[in-house]
This record gives sequence, C-alpha cells and structure tokens, in this order.
Amino acid sequence: MEFKDKLKWKKCSKCEFLQHPSHLRCLNCKNDKFIFIESTDKCTLLTYTILKAPPMEFRSQKSYALGLVEFNNGIKALGQLSTDLELVPGMQLKPVFKKICENLNGEEIYSFIFVPL
Ligand SMILES: [Zn+2]
Repeated sequence: MEFKDKLKWKKCSKCEFLQHPSHLRCLNCKNDKFIFIESTDKCTLLTYTILKAPPMEFRSQKSYALGLVEFNNGIKALGQLSTDLELVPGMQLKPVFKKICENLNGEEIYSFIFVPL
C-alpha cells in the first residue's frame, strides 16, 4: 500500500463504514471486503488546537498545530498543520507527505502534514 501521494481509507462493501486501512475486518459489521477511498487534492480545516508541550518525538519544535480536516469527498482526518500562516477554520489546505519528526532513536518519521493553499 502506497501512502506517499494519497491518504487512503477503507470503505466497507457491505455497510459503507469508513475506517483506517490497517483494519482487516469492518469495525461496524465484521465484513472483510472493502473498497479503497483516496484523499482529494484539497481539504477544509474544521478545527485545530496548538500543542504547546509536544511529545518527545517533536522535541525540535516548541509547539505545533494539530487539526481536523475534511476532504471534498467527505472523509475527515486528524493531522499536523503547517503554521506558516494564521489558521482559520474554513481555510483550504492540501496534504503534503514530508518528515514530521524524529523518533526517540533519531530516525526520521514521515507522514502527511496539511499546508495552506
Ligand atoms: Zn461493514
């Protein structure tokens, strides 16, 4: 499964429940047949918070923003936000795959971060 260009979710083929791709069976009905749903290019910031005491993995940052976004196809995701601009609920963002931190062993960790358009 490739995560570097699109975020992906599993949609249950029976009850249409959306869930993280790591689940082998539907969390709602236990079905094991899924359709993969991909993120769209743009998403909308629904709400956010600023973490002023980040976990140790983010020790290189004094603080960072964590936001809930909704893609144009209705899928919602929680993730780190770029803080270059003032954050306002309703603003348009795009997911970018990049280094987000270093773990406690000093290894670089990559994931999606949401950047203002
Ligand atoms: Zn289901």
